[in-house]
Amino acid sequence: MIRGLGLAAGGLLAAGAGFAGEQAWRREDPPTPASAASVDSWEPPDRQVDVVWAVNTRRRLVALTFDDGPMEHWTPQALDALDAAKVPATFFMVGSRLARNAHLVKGRLDRHEVGNHTWKHDDLSKLSLAHAYRSIHRTHEAIERVTGRAPTLLRPPWGRLGGTTLHVAAQHRYDLVLWSLLVQDRRLSREPARMVAAVVDNARPGTIVLAHDVGAASRETAIAQLPAVIRGLRGRGFDLVTVSQLRQAAL
Ligand SMILES: [Zn+2]
Repeated sequence: MIRGLGLAAGGLLAAGAGFAGEQAWRREDPPTPASAASVDSWEPPDRQVDVVWAVNTRRRLVALTFDDGPMEHWTPQALDALDAAKVPATFFMVGSRLARNAHLVKGRLDRHEVGNHTWKHDDLSKLSLAHAYRSIHRTHEAIERVTGRAPTLLRPPWGRLGGTTLHVAAQHRYDLVLWSLLVQDRRLSREPARMVAAVVDNARPGTIVLAHDVGAASRETAIAQLPAVIRGLRGRGFDLVTVSQLRQAAL
């Protein structure tokens, strides 16, 4: 009996050594732990996820997007400017901020679209599947609670994503939205006219513009210049729409 057990233990040890060797080989091989999880432990999702930088369309449509809110002062100021011009936009909201600041936007989002920007502006490229799920799902629920509508778009903070991001996006039936034109709210914050021109002159049919409704004081110039941006784009014959409306105009 004792000998038999010894043999069994020896067999287990041998198997363990082989497994450890395989693990060592994997450690030398990128990807990062988060995306390795995608290879080892996932069932493939049952839905494809699109990644959208801009929309291929001939119609003169542009989508304005605002990231990182809702924040006191900033988001109401952006909403005021958009409402005054009767322009819809897309807000990629941080879930924990929305939970705290729901009163700033409640009842004001009917013409607008709200997308998911994670719970705490998380770097999704570094999160495990469980963490990515929690961050995205809590935000999903907060948006649904405040707006009465389930979001369908995810913008990963800083545009950083991992394999887990795609999996959780698929689970939530999201597509990923990046951007094709960044408002120069840092570089040109002291030159508002140039900042406006950089948006207006570089817009093309299908452009997705990224601005922020929270951040460093310099960024406030961009919010203050929103009426001028809208005027300029309309002057070039553009209509402003939400990201989902823009995607409906795709060729
Ligand atoms: Zn962000």
